Amino acid sequence: MWSRAVDRIRPRTALRWLLPAAWPVRLTFGAAAATTLLVAALTTQPAIGLAVVIVITHDVFGLWASFAIHELGHAVVLGTAPGVSAITLERTSLRLSVTPHGSILGRDAFLAAVLGPLCCVAIGLLLWALAPQSFLHIWYLVHGVFLTPLFSDGRTMLRAAAAWRARIPLPGSDSGPEKTV
Ligand SMILES: [Zn+2]
Repeated sequence: MWSRAVDRIRPRTALRWLLPAAWPVRLTFGAAAATTLLVAALTTQPAIGLAVVIVITHDVFGLWASFAIHELGHAVVLGTAPGVSAITLERTSLRLSVTPHGSILGRDAFLAAVLGPLCCVAIGLLLWALAPQSFLHIWYLVHGVFLTPLFSDGRTMLRAAAAWRARIPLPGSDSGPEKTV
């Protein structure tokens, strides 16, 4: 697991956090794509090559980029929220997470939880309008489900909305409950 506590998000740290995200997926797709491209070249079948390029495009610009933008949306808001003394950026082989420390106003916690998925939904709507034939918008629009209480973002939104003007203690403070958004 990669983990780094920072007082605010800097581009270099963000790249070190996000670029290797879900690397086993990239590795699997990469190996399968390289093999298939080789077969396409050897058998001179450009249609197979084109299909591989489409799959790689969806993996990188759809799956990876949408989750990177989602987590960056959380991290940027948390990193600038008054009372948040630091944020811990974490990456396991398949998962990204942000944990704020210090304390946060309910309003800011709500904003941090909503902005991750909402950035993706906004980009999805834009892609849908500009390039519907790419089908890349689906990866981004799907992030809308994270706004429901079935997922931790949706549950954080509900808790934060109920404590809109209150200051919520976070991990790293003396009495803070565990809380990851
Ligand atoms: Zn989220």
